[in-house]
Amino acid sequence: MKITLLTGKIFDLENSFSFPLEVVKSARCRRMNLRIDSKKRTAVLTLPPRASFKKAYDFVKEHEVWAEEHLAKLPKTQEFKDGQTFTLFARPLKICHRPETLRAAEEKDGVLYIGGDAVFLHRRVKDYITREAKKEFLRRSRELAEKIGCQVKSVAIKDTSSRWGSCSTLNNINYNWRIALAPACVIDYLVAHEVSHLKHRDHSREFWRCVKELYSGAALGKSWLKAHGNELYRYR
Ligand SMILES: [Zn+2]
Repeated sequence: MKITLLTGKIFDLENSFSFPLEVVKSARCRRMNLRIDSKKRTAVLTLPPRASFKKAYDFVKEHEVWAEEHLAKLPKTQEFKDGQTFTLFARPLKICHRPETLRAAEEKDGVLYIGGDAVFLHRRVKDYITREAKKEFLRRSRELAEKIGCQVKSVAIKDTSSRWGSCSTLNNINYNWRIALAPACVIDYLVAHEVSHLKHRDHSREFWRCVKELYSGAALGKSWLKAHGNELYRYR
C-alpha cells in the first residue's frame, strides 16, 4: 500500500516499520486486523477495501511494540540434522545420515536412516514426516469419527502458515505437518477437534462437548498449542 505526498515523496506502508509487514486487502474484512504469520515471519495487516493509508499506518503504529515482541519471540529456524533426535507422534526418532544408501528414508528401532546427499537431508526428513502423518492422521481420524457415527472422506497434510487443522463441509480434513512433532496430548486434541467438526461445523458448546468426549485431555492439548505452538514453526 503506497501513498504519494504533494512533494512527490512516496511512502510505502510495508516498509514504514522496523519489522516485516505484509498488507492484505480483503472484501470480507470489516475491521483492521494485525496478526503474526509464524511461517513467513512477518506481521500481516488485513484491511477492509476502503481503508485509508493514514488509518492503516496509525493502526500498525499503535501495535508496533506488540508486533515486534511477538516476532522476536519466534524460535530461530532450524533444519533437521544428522544425529538429532525429534519426536514423531510422540515416539523419539534419531536421525542417522547414510550418504552411501540410495533409499531416501527408512525407520528402524527408533532410528530414521536418511540416504543421499546431505543437502537433501532436511527435505527427506520432512517428506518422511509428511508421509507418516498422512497415514497416522487418517487412521486416527477415522477411528474417532466412527465413535460419533461420522465419516472422514480424506486426510491431507498441509504446510500452512497459521492453521493447525481444518475440516471442510465435504468431510475432508487437513492437518499441518508440524503437529506430528507435537506432544501426544496436542495430537490427540487436534484430531478430536477436527473430527468433531464432522458433526458440528461451528465452535458451539455442543462442539466443545464433543471434543471433550472424544479426548478428555483436550484442554491440556489446547493450552499447549496456544503457549508453545509457535515453537513448531522452527522447522520450515
Ligand atoms: Zn475448529
